[in-house]
Amino acid sequence: MNINPIEQLLAAYAAFFPGAQIGSYVDGAILPGEGADIALINPATGQAFLSYQDAGERVVAAAARSALEGQRTWAALSHAERGRIMHAAGRLLRENIEPLAQLESISAGKPIRDCRGEALRVAEMFEYYAGWADKVYGNVIPVPSGHLSFTRREPCGVLLEITPWNAPLFTCGWNVAPAICMGNAVILKPSELTPLSSLAFASLIEKAGVPRGVLSVLAGYGHTTGQQALMNRAVKKVVFVGSPATGGKIAAAAAQRGIPCVLELGGKSANIVFEDANLERAAIGAQAAIFGNAGQSCVAGSRLLVQRSIYDRFVKMVADGAAQIKVGDPASATTDIGPIHNARQYQHVLDMIRTGLQEGAEVAEGCDGQPAESGYWVRPTVLKNVHNKMDVAQTEIFGPVVVAIPFDTEEDAIAIANDSDFGLAGAVWTADIGRAYRVASKVNAGTFWVNMYKVINVAAPFGGYDASGYGRSSGIEALHEYTQVKSVWVETAEKPVQAFGYAPSLDMAK
Ligand code: NAD
Repeated sequence: MNINPIEQLLAAYAAFFPGAQIGSYVDGAILPGEGADIALINPATGQAFLSYQDAGERVVAAAARSALEGQRTWAALSHAERGRIMHAAGRLLRENIEPLAQLESISAGKPIRDCRGEALRVAEMFEYYAGWADKVYGNVIPVPSGHLSFTRREPCGVLLEITPWNAPLFTCGWNVAPAICMGNAVILKPSELTPLSSLAFASLIEKAGVPRGVLSVLAGYGHTTGQQALMNRAVKKVVFVGSPATGGKIAAAAAQRGIPCVLELGGKSANIVFEDANLERAAIGAQAAIFGNAGQSCVAGSRLLVQRSIYDRFVKMVADGAAQIKVGDPASATTDIGPIHNARQYQHVLDMIRTGLQEGAEVAEGCDGQPAESGYWVRPTVLKNVHNKMDVAQTEIFGPVVVAIPFDTEEDAIAIANDSDFGLAGAVWTADIGRAYRVASKVNAGTFWVNMYKVINVAAPFGGYDASGYGRSSGIEALHEYTQVKSVWVETAEKPVQAFGYAPSLDMAK
């Protein structure tokens, strides 16, 4: 296994920043941090390979100043011009898929195949929103007083976007593209563990014509740099993608400042398989649902609900498939999944497997909770004989571990699916179209698939129900999320009457 790809990573990074310096991207340059040292770890070995300093107050203040200035410049351009620049950014991102993918694969421990796909999706996000830049506008409202009353959709101003480590580049594009499309500036705070692809991304979109300051990237910790940015008065809205625990803190801090937030949190999504489904396809779908990106996916189908009549047969099919999955070097084109990203997450995954076994679950395939000799490796794992009340069925594992839960009837399946704090996604596999519709409409989830899993697209809205968060981060819904609506009233009467209070005569002002 090739586990020493650091030179390759440095070369990819130097293609964007010739000095290969790591810091925050502010005003078109890398600004070194002033806080504690942060190590970047190679998940394949568990060894540190680079370090940089947490951004800190001065860098946050500089990013805020730059964002205010950049936002004014950006919002002053015509909508069509912003669209043209978004399109140019999409093109430049397309031309840089390979170095972006290399950077992402090595620092996030993700298979290079997935990273190329994700980099391409990011280019497509810019191309998609480019077309929307001049197509989101207000309405004229037929108010009874005869005044001219209309709405404008205006930018929110400077947004703070905080992202996790599991898909750093994809999440960065997913959230930044709609936000800047609507004339906002973004201060992005990627995970301290994976800042490199976000830094490269920022330099590229600026090269494509996005003015300086429209996107700044703060490299640093959440509890220091992230909190400082959140408290900065320049920030008018927060978009957070990450764990429910941190999401709660962010929402509380935002509420204290009286600013709104969008939360994209975790999940424990139910993937429901009925006895009449095409079981071969459903078994492949069940593997794709949970094992992609080593299960480190918010929409992972981590609860596999299987009708009792096919439970043993179907769980064996999924377990046999899991045994064939190629776990290994992220740089190899044939690798299906890489390691768990970091030590804390690795420990959590192993702890959860052991918890499941203590609760009475059995390993049908994969890991029994014992650590690897080196690196953060976990084989795709299927736990059977799981009950939905078990901790392993309720807590997000965020690793390649699926729990298989039997059910008897349609009603039973829906009740189990909804017996969760989360509501991010879900799926049903059945040949009965009526049942598919009934289940899709009754399961609490922001995204639901029928006879498929884990396809998302920038054009379709994405977000959570319940503890999985609120707000929508893609499609037209995201563009609305990133604007605020202003109501404008214009006096049109020849002899206007200025009403005092709610005088009935206002309706007759003409
Ligand atoms: P995390 O909550 O630990 O960290 C996410 C981000 O928040 C990081 O950038 C971190 O530095 C920052 N942060 C931490 N504490 C902070 C604080 N006090 N103030 C400000 N910022 C702070 O999450 P993680 O471990 O990086 O990611 C895994 C989680 O993300 C999982 O729960 C997963 O389901 C979720 N996730 C959700 C989605 C989605 O779209 N719903 C997508 C990907 C990941």
